[in-house]
Amino acid sequence: MIPLVRQTYADIASLEQSLGESLDLRRVGSLHLAAAVNWERELQELADLNTLHGVALQWLPPGELPALVPWLHPDPVRVALFTPDDGYLDPYRLAQAYAHAARQQGAILLQNVAVRELLLAHGRVIGVRTTDGDYHAPQVVLAAGAWSAVLSSQAGFGIPSAPVRSQYWIAAPHPLVPRRHPFTIIPEARAYTRPEVGGLLFGLREAQSVSVDPRTVPDDLANLSFGDDLGWESLSEGTALLERFLPALPELAIQSYITGPSTYTPDGLFVLGATPGVEGLLLATGCCGAGIAASGGIGRAVAALAADQTPPFDLSPFQPGRFGAVDPFDPMFRRRCEQARSGKVSG
Ligand SMILES: Cc1cc2nc3c(=O)[nH]c(=O)nc-3n(C[C@H](O)[C@H](O)[C@H](O)COP(=O)(O)OP(=O)(O)OC[C@H]3O[C@@H](n4cnc5c(N)ncnc54)[C@H](O)[C@@H]3O)c2cc1C
Repeated sequence: MIPLVRQTYADIASLEQSLGESLDLRRVGSLHLAAAVNWERELQELADLNTLHGVALQWLPPGELPALVPWLHPDPVRVALFTPDDGYLDPYRLAQAYAHAARQQGAILLQNVAVRELLLAHGRVIGVRTTDGDYHAPQVVLAAGAWSAVLSSQAGFGIPSAPVRSQYWIAAPHPLVPRRHPFTIIPEARAYTRPEVGGLLFGLREAQSVSVDPRTVPDDLANLSFGDDLGWESLSEGTALLERFLPALPELAIQSYITGPSTYTPDGLFVLGATPGVEGLLLATGCCGAGIAASGGIGRAVAALAADQTPPFDLSPFQPGRFGAVDPFDPMFRRRCEQARSGKVSG
């Protein structure tokens, strides 16, 4: 996944150049923190992998952390891995930039047009039926996020992913939260944080994540419900863990709660490539909460496949058929996807 994410950074730079505008990428760096020995081992593995791919890294002594992240209590931190070139940006601006650049290259984007059906002939996909009529194509790329499984089931393929709840909270500005500081990833607290609109954004993963049946995802996500708890249970469950690293947490005034579906697979890896047994259908989904970070790599890989070229990345870990036949509508299968989110160690 590292090369796919690095492609996104490269694409941001070339989009800024070709469109002549800044995408306001904030290269604040990222800090992975570990308090227990087993998490230290995980970080060492992460560091080795990143080094293999030429990513600049630094181990920071815990005593230096408050200078970088004033709200962070260094005492529980055993090791801290700093990746200075990491950053974040507004995903809407990135999506708009991809769209503008695609138009400049001759792509035609149809908005407010829904695909209702995959058109099939002799076991292969030959196009799509939309609210704007039929479109035929030698290759169809299915990248419909949480809605993908319903469409692919028309072609008889069960996408091995489920829409699992992702969520974060944004707290009001606080004297210990500077406008600019590294984002942090704290697997032991199942948490990540970053600065946002002058306050602190923090995401918490539940010990038991929740998902929905893909058939129940509405067209408008504002109408999607993950149940009655509206995140309060995960907030109270997660704050106890996060408070160890962020003692000022009880003082933070929560201003916003953001939630939505992220498509997770049982192994936390994407669903990217040709659909087994269905010619003409390429899949680019199951993004496991990293679809923005890896968007450049995913796009480049699927574009190469659609043009019958060799993708510039090893896509074997992402093969759509790697779990065998699955039923994405089966609650037992969804449990496996929920567990992948709960056990995730990255941000
Ligand atoms: C709260 C939250 C926080 C997140 N934080 C991060 C993060 O920090 N970093 C990160 O990398 N990722 C993050 N993610 C995950 C990221 O948003 C997803 O991985 C990414 O959006 C997946 O992209 P996608 O294109 O596969 O799906 P989507 O973004 O869901 O896009 C699918 C599109 O397909 C369209 N569509 C669906 N059905 C049809 C149809 N029948 N016809 C036409 N169009 C259709 C939809 O309208 C939608 O526009 C987060 C997600 C959530 C919910």
